[in-house]
Amino acid sequence: MRQEVDDIHRQGGTIAFVPTMGFFHEGHLALMREGRKRADNLIVSIFVNPTQFGPSEDFKSYPRDLDRDIAMAHSVGVDCVFTPAADAMYEEGHQTYVDLTGLPNHLCGLSRPGHFRGVATVVAKLFHIVKPQVALFGEKDYQQLVIVRRMAQDLNMDITIVGVPIVREPDGLAMSSRNTYLTPEQRRSALALYESLKLARERVARGITDATSIIEEVTAFIGSHAQTKTDYVAVVDPQTLEAVDRIDSPSLLAVAVWVGKTRLIDNTILSP
Ligand code: AMP
Repeated sequence: MRQEVDDIHRQGGTIAFVPTMGFFHEGHLALMREGRKRADNLIVSIFVNPTQFGPSEDFKSYPRDLDRDIAMAHSVGVDCVFTPAADAMYEEGHQTYVDLTGLPNHLCGLSRPGHFRGVATVVAKLFHIVKPQVALFGEKDYQQLVIVRRMAQDLNMDITIVGVPIVREPDGLAMSSRNTYLTPEQRRSALALYESLKLARERVARGITDATSIIEEVTAFIGSHAQTKTDYVAVVDPQTLEAVDRIDSPSLLAVAVWVGKTRLIDNTILSP
């Protein structure tokens, strides 16, 4: 990878980079298509990063299909797919991590301790290997996007971080590699996440700006669907991720819900 990247830079080429955990869907492809437009070379990594999974999470069972992924990447003009092995990314004796002091103490960071430390660390490592000018991340993982932006700024990484809007199934469910875990009944319940975001947007459009009442209504709506257990429903400042009481400026509504044994997330901006 280093040799490839050095050759590109020697020839004055630019690199757009899309880090992923593979098992591609249209969400991943949207990032790649956007990356294709922004540089002469498009590099995608596939790495199921062990350090961002908790001990009871789905690291082992995370879906993988490298041949299919490579064919899909090829179809949207990816030049290079980087698939490092876990023991190459984390050699024996590895002990350096990237930790943010504030942004992980909200939303998913609260229910997934250490998750964003793993994410920030692996993204920093991948950035150092791939040396891109531009890197693309999905707004689906909104907190991740904000954290990567902050890290790039704080650590003087000369990389433009681009956010790409959430890609959804025709009925509205946000695309996710983890959707493959869902049974037909759970798949129906999973739609509650998107429907609850729409409900909240309607309420705000009608002039309701009290975050607590929005959160209560969204939580009750999701809870009325089979096999759901809400992890969190939060209305936060889109930059700091601090909770807001009143939606008097664009605010992020973020939800995380267990549907059976699968944890799903979704979000939208609520604009008064
Ligand atoms: P993952 O493979 O799940 O780690 O995701 C790799 C990248 O794709 C991350 O930047 C995600 O935010 C992004 N992504 C995943 N699902 C979607 C989606 N439905 N829409 C837009 N981006 C997505």
